Parts: sequence; C-alpha cells; structure tokens
Amino acid sequence: MSKTSPVIVALDFSSERETLALVDRLDASMCRLKVGKELFTRCGPSLVKTLVDKNFDVFLDLKYHDIPNTVAQACAVAADLGVWMLNVHALGGEKMMSAAREAVSGTDAPLLIAVTWLTSSGQLELDALGFNATPQDMVSRLTLMSQNAGMNGVVCSAREAPMLRQVMNEDFLLVTPGIRLVDKKVSVVKQDDQCRVVTPEQAMKDGASYLVIGRPITQAEDPCKVLRTINNILR
Ligand code: C5P
Repeated sequence: MSKTSPVIVALDFSSERETLALVDRLDASMCRLKVGKELFTRCGPSLVKTLVDKNFDVFLDLKYHDIPNTVAQACAVAADLGVWMLNVHALGGEKMMSAAREAVSGTDAPLLIAVTWLTSSGQLELDALGFNATPQDMVSRLTLMSQNAGMNGVVCSAREAPMLRQVMNEDFLLVTPGIRLVDKKVSVVKQDDQCRVVTPEQAMKDGASYLVIGRPITQAEDPCKVLRTINNILR
C-alpha cells in the first residue's frame, strides 16, 4: 500500500460515530490519522485499535508530561496498541524523554516525538510564564534536548521548520500543526486558535516531514475533497 501522503488528519471529534463517519470515507493511502486527548478520553484504546485494524497509521497525540517513570510506562502501554507514532512534551525534560525512549525502543517500536512549543502559544505566553526567550529560542533549545534524548523528531510550527532543518538532518522528523489553507473566495487564512499558521505547500518547502491538519479538513463541507486537493497540491 502506498503511504506517500504527508498529511495526518487530526480526528478532533467527541464521539466514535462522528469519527468513523469520516474515517470510513478515507483509506490509508490518503492520510494518516491522529487521535488526541478529546477523542481518546471519550473512546479510549478500543477506538485506537479499531483504527489500527483498519490499516491506518495512527499517531497517538497524548503529549505525555509527568515524572520519567510514569511517562515511560504510559509510552510502553501506548506502543502495545500498535500505534505508528506517539509523543511527549519536551518541556518534561531530557530525563523524562530518555526514559520514554528506553521504554519504546526496538525494531517494531513506534516513532517517538516531542512537542516543542505549542503552535497556539507565542511570545505573550512565554513572557507571562517568565521565560526570557523568543518562541524560536525555545523551540531550538527543546529540539536539541529532544535529539539528545533520542527522539525521532519534534512537533513544531512550520514557521520554525527552516531554522530547524539547518541543524537537523532529513531523518529527524518535523511534524507541523497550525496548517491552514488559503480561502480562495476571500483570500484569507482562517486561523482558529492557532497563532503561527502556514499553508501545506509552504510547510513542505520549509522542511516539514508530516503535516497535522484538523479543522480545515474535519470541518469542511466535503472533507475528502479538501484532503484530495491538498494531496494533489503536494504531489
Ligand atoms: O484544527 P487544527 O488543524 O488546528 O488541529 C491541529 C491539531 O494539532 C490539534 O489536534 C492540536 O491538538 C494539535 N497540535 C497543535 N499544536 C501543537 C501540537 C499539536 O495544534 N504544538
């Protein structure tokens, strides 16, 4: 089966019914799927297994952040679900990420990546937290820490991809949310709650490995048509 699309559809739904209504119109050559906190909290591991059984590569986006032992155990259990990718928060520190890496290793292990700085946050949030840094400083520092801990890559804004690609080789994955399409009718980009947004084409040009796209696809009148359009643009 060809898995050439770099798109990961964020299944930010609150029920299995809504999720499967979309998933049943997709196939694994069109995209990968991301299960986040809302859907996982509602439907749990059984839905994740259902999606894995349907042959989709599943990214379990639970952004673990806790003491190293707890995160390591959670990652091991997540890997047992057969997911393709899972993640932790880089802000949990190098010790925590290394413990997760040790728990998720070996040839069949899922990809393990770290969230750097949320794309919904910018300078205001850093200032409010008392960090004397720009989002770029923060992302660079957390990315180097993630690499040292053996992560396969990071989640970052595509705006930071060119900067990170200069120091990270092609094998290091850059997974980028905050992707928005230009609405041709009004020539604007609908941002929702994302601060740092980029178009799919630009994100790939800038060195992204995978694009996480939620609302532009899931809230569209015809989600499959939007996904096909994005895949055609990126082909
Ligand atoms: O709907 P939208 O395209 O904004 O969805 C983006 C998805 O990526 C959401 O599921 C969100 O939780 C996730 N995400 C993000 N920013 C990060 C990490 C994950 O938006 N830094």
